Amino acid sequence: MPRPKCQRQIAGLPASTYFKPRGIPMSDLEEVILTIDEVEAIRLADHEGLYQEQAAEFMKISRQTFGRVIASAHRKIADALVTGKALRIEGGVVSFAQATKYRCASCDEKWSPPSGTGAPAICPSCGSSALGAHADIHHRHRKGRAGKNSRG
Ligand SMILES: [Zn+2]
Repeated sequence: MPRPKCQRQIAGLPASTYFKPRGIPMSDLEEVILTIDEVEAIRLADHEGLYQEQAAEFMKISRQTFGRVIASAHRKIADALVTGKALRIEGGVVSFAQATKYRCASCDEKWSPPSGTGAPAICPSCGSSALGAHADIHHRHRKGRAGKNSRG
């Protein structure tokens, strides 16, 4: 029996979730299933160029777990490329990174209210109303990638 998987944190969903070789009918096509956390591992380590320690920290998993996730991802992608299979991205035990949105000026508490609840009036920690919006990772500008934000 496989061990239960711990939840992995991701920044967002992949831009596309299906890749297939050209000119092969779907009925003849074998699929490789990549999980969303495997794609996130590829994104962080191979695309963003993070060290595995940093990438593991970002996904809130151990370095060892990250190593297993990315090794599995590499195997699957290699299999798809070398043997001409389709890649489907689905599944995986993931949670979305919550962007910090507010900061309390009096106690320095930082938090992100659940979506749809609107702006908070007071700090959930100390009750102060001296709040400020806080910069979050999704709004940071990346060089050369303007206009390519996947999740506003
Ligand atoms: Zn406070």
